[in-house]
Amino acid sequence: MSNIVAIVGRPNVGKSTLFNRLLQKRQAIVDDVSGVTRDRHYGKSDWNGKEFSVIDTGGYIIGSDDSFEAEIRKQVELAVDEANVILFMVDNQVGLTEMDKEVAQLLRKSKKPVLLVVNKVDSNKNLDDSYEFYNLGFEQFFTISSMTGSGTGELLDEVISHF
Ligand code: GDP
Ligand code: MG
Repeated sequence: MSNIVAIVGRPNVGKSTLFNRLLQKRQAIVDDVSGVTRDRHYGKSDWNGKEFSVIDTGGYIIGSDDSFEAEIRKQVELAVDEANVILFMVDNQVGLTEMDKEVAQLLRKSKKPVLLVVNKVDSNKNLDDSYEFYNLGFEQFFTISSMTGSGTGELLDEVISHF
């Protein structure tokens, strides 16, 4: 199957929470193979009858010998290679960070669709905080809460439109 969406971003933004939500009631395929795949989890999901694979990146990043930045860079490059659509996740509660800007820089080189996803917008009163993410230079972004599921429908509509 070639419909693949990858979730990338710095640690703690909520990638795995979204991954688990997308795989709800489904079996996550945990890939613990050594080597380049060790930090990646694969699962299957579907939306409106379209099936796709989801890659969660950075699972074991804390235990890595590599530096944080090098490891994240590797994860982003692998995701860009492998996926058809990339979800670039940032954290609305922490706000824009230098590491977000570095990831954005890497993703700009990709010719594949990159959707900026502002996570942890748990309520509408947090929406105003999200405007600073326009500084990353994307035309649009999706505000979601991986925790409550709010906004994920609109995001998935956009994701499957690329398959
Ligand atoms: P990852 O390192 O990017 O995979 O991030 P995780 O999915 O492990 O989440 C990091 C932390 O953020 C956890 O404590 C989550 O419960 C929390 N989190 C994830 N999504 C949300 C969200 O939408 N809202 C809030 N308030 N917390 C969230
Ligand atoms: Mg994770």
